[in-house]
Amino acid sequence: MNKKIAVIKGDGIGPEIVTEAMKVLDRIGEKFGHNFEYTEVLMGGCAIDATGSPLPQETIDTCLASDSVLLGAVGGPKWDNLAGNQRPEKGLLGIRSALKLFANIRPAKLFQPLASACPLKEEITANGLDLVIVRELIGGAYFGERSTTTDENGVEKAVDTMPYSDFEIERIMKVAFDMARKRRGKVNSVDKANVLDTSRLWRKIAHRYAELNPDIQFEDTLVDNCAMQLVRNPAQFDVIVTENLFGDILSDEASMITGSLGMIPSASLGETSLGLYEPIHGSAPDIAGQNKANPIATILSVAMMLRYSFDMPTEADAIENAVNSVLEDGYRTGDIMSDGMKFVTCSEMGNLITERV
Ligand code: NAD
Repeated sequence: MNKKIAVIKGDGIGPEIVTEAMKVLDRIGEKFGHNFEYTEVLMGGCAIDATGSPLPQETIDTCLASDSVLLGAVGGPKWDNLAGNQRPEKGLLGIRSALKLFANIRPAKLFQPLASACPLKEEITANGLDLVIVRELIGGAYFGERSTTTDENGVEKAVDTMPYSDFEIERIMKVAFDMARKRRGKVNSVDKANVLDTSRLWRKIAHRYAELNPDIQFEDTLVDNCAMQLVRNPAQFDVIVTENLFGDILSDEASMITGSLGMIPSASLGETSLGLYEPIHGSAPDIAGQNKANPIATILSVAMMLRYSFDMPTEADAIENAVNSVLEDGYRTGDIMSDGMKFVTCSEMGNLITERV
């Protein structure tokens, strides 16, 4: 298969980690007979330096004309003092909205060789930890109307609103159910339907969708219970689907229980197969240019791209198995290093994973 990939290396460690991920992707192409065609485009600080804008129109056009987008990370101290709408991060929000990416997908998976980095007790993780959080990304409280007022008695009052429409809920359900179908076939829909009207609508639409898709095991979970169950018995979850604010909090909780920032990939998806794939960490300016970064989150982001945008599950498995095998043999970048393990650089880690694909 031929696939066009827009590549945004970005700032800080971005170029280093994306280079390693492209090595792995090229190896997948060789092994499975695919051709991945890359077009590098600018976004973030490097785009500001070159063009004056964090998100040049050319970048948007190239991404829209591609089958998928691979992103390293953007930002850094050099651009920290720019005004809000000129900052590198503006590029990130801009590209998500230009590509109409309304679903954020964050897996939380415990690689057994890194189990000691997991803050949960061994008896809890013995059953495994391999779940995905599907978070609605462009609705709810972060996008609703808000205001802060002071009344005649000097009482300050702030109001945030949390709007959701049926179609926004339905389209995120579709993402979650499609994902569950490619995994273990279970969806937990997380809401606060005992209190919030938006959650009651959420639940109504979720139930309607579940009835139309009886091949997927479906369960409602209240958000407070979900937060508790994630640390009590995470093995019960396969796909968790939830609204923006709950998803923001739960996905950080789920990431934390897997151990390291340098290990966690993510995807942002819309209604088409075009997705944006990136590690959840930032540009790590403190270690940029030193060949010290952990490229695994970016490499696993590429595995997600193969699975969710290109429908290549065997190829995705090949990458995930290669990562596991390298970790099992004790190779570690600095961020996940522990006693008795073998220290490797960013490029050595990339080479090891590439060799084992
Ligand atoms: P960060 O994630 O970049 O770094 C936090 C810490 O984790 C640092 O000590 C860093 O060295 C370490 N770290 C992160 N990724 C690593 C990796 N792959 N391997 C080894 N160590 C790693 O967060 P920050 O320091 O708060 O932010 C730095 C810059 O990144 C800021 O400009 C911020 O705005 C930006 N940022 C960008 C994104 C993005 O592009 N999606 C996300 C978060 C932060």
